[in-house]
Amino acid sequence: MAYIEGHARDQALLLPASVEDYVAADSPVRFIDAFVDDLDLGEAGFHRSRPKATGRPGYAPGDMLKLYLYGYLNRVRSSRRLEAEAMRNLELIWLLRGLRPDYKTIADFRRDNRSAFKAVFRAFVILCRKLDLFGRELLAVDGTRLKAVNNPGRNFSRDKLARYIAAADERLEGYLVELDAIDRGEDGHGLGRGEALAAKIARVRERRQAQAAMLEQLTASGESQISLTDRDARAMVTGQKTTVGYNAQVAVDAKHKLIVEQHVTNAATDMGLLASTAGAAKEALGVDRIAAVADMGYYKGEDIEACEAAGITPYVARPERGSAIANGRFPKERFAYDPAADAYRCPGGQLLDTRYRSVTRGHVSIQYSSPAACAACAIKARCTGSRWRRINRWENEAVLERMAKRLAARPGVLAIRRETVEHPFGSIKQWMNQGVFLMRGLEKVRAEFSLTALAYNLRRAITIIGIPGLIQAVRA
Ligand code: SF4
Repeated sequence: MAYIEGHARDQALLLPASVEDYVAADSPVRFIDAFVDDLDLGEAGFHRSRPKATGRPGYAPGDMLKLYLYGYLNRVRSSRRLEAEAMRNLELIWLLRGLRPDYKTIADFRRDNRSAFKAVFRAFVILCRKLDLFGRELLAVDGTRLKAVNNPGRNFSRDKLARYIAAADERLEGYLVELDAIDRGEDGHGLGRGEALAAKIARVRERRQAQAAMLEQLTASGESQISLTDRDARAMVTGQKTTVGYNAQVAVDAKHKLIVEQHVTNAATDMGLLASTAGAAKEALGVDRIAAVADMGYYKGEDIEACEAAGITPYVARPERGSAIANGRFPKERFAYDPAADAYRCPGGQLLDTRYRSVTRGHVSIQYSSPAACAACAIKARCTGSRWRRINRWENEAVLERMAKRLAARPGVLAIRRETVEHPFGSIKQWMNQGVFLMRGLEKVRAEFSLTALAYNLRRAITIIGIPGLIQAVRA
């Protein structure tokens, strides 16, 4: 049986006369073109948004932005690959009208305009708002750790450096003892061994010196760690592993799992980042009040309080931590606070009404106890290993109690959080293969993540609305 044959390569063909004929009516490039043409690039902060009057003309920032949007949407992020695609990819040839910037120009554009990409991300959020794609009722806030261009072996914490220096001292000590033995002629290996040892000692000393200098630098700066390749990257614990990278925070609207706000930081934990992330998202959505759900990594009294003050109703589960939990004793939840008596009722039915106020770095808390009751308690072994049990209460703990009541009344909200944030993070890391940054430095990775988050939103909006609907919204 014959196969379908292609034409001979040297055969003269009548190809469609215009590149327009090669691009489908529902191709995403048509939306990228319309969207970028509609942006005020000067206001967004792009350099050369007006052409220079004199000198050699440069590429228009709009064309370069179109190239990047197409690239991030199609998993092409490196400047060299973008250069290659601009030459051979018909959709890109259409989008750029045959322009072929070289990789250096492409790379320079992303570096020089790093602070402008967030404005483009926001412009698309505004478009999604116009299309009523946000529920504007519930946000899921979460953070993910994305790898930096920094090998873990080139990241040093103070502890790590102190350990390395101690180990180097120990090795040097051993080598010097061995060297002495060789000098006294007690070693059977002869002169060759002595020279090899001297070389080893020089190497260890050199490394130790560099480590001591880094430790000194950390002590002087007050920082906890240093990264040699990407100075802004930090070691962060992710599950069982430690990643040297950045913490990308997102606020995702629960209706269609679209990202409303995104921000990259090098904070190792999520604690304290809820009010700022949800607050920026609330502003972008233009609502007076909104609910925000986050995992227990965000549980911090002052941050929860800041959410309430900013018109955000927070839902954050209380983490099970503390020595009582670790030792299998009564958790704090078993102690009921009585506001009228300003005292706690313990599991043994006693009132803990002896109060002691303390202030640690501005955090005011009160310790409640009843030494006399504990001394006579039959179930003390299940409660404390000390002479009496103390319950610590933050001065504004009513904020956390209100949140616990809200969570009890809406238990399903935590499951909504998981499925809402897993979609963007799963898509970005697996499908889009953008779980690793290409650039170095906080400002540059922020630019990269703005493009990544925008590409994710764009793909979602295409699935929900379709290209013709999006183009219509831009032109409306
Ligand atoms: S040890 Fe003290 S706080 Fe604990 S149950 Fe007994 S009386 Fe209550």
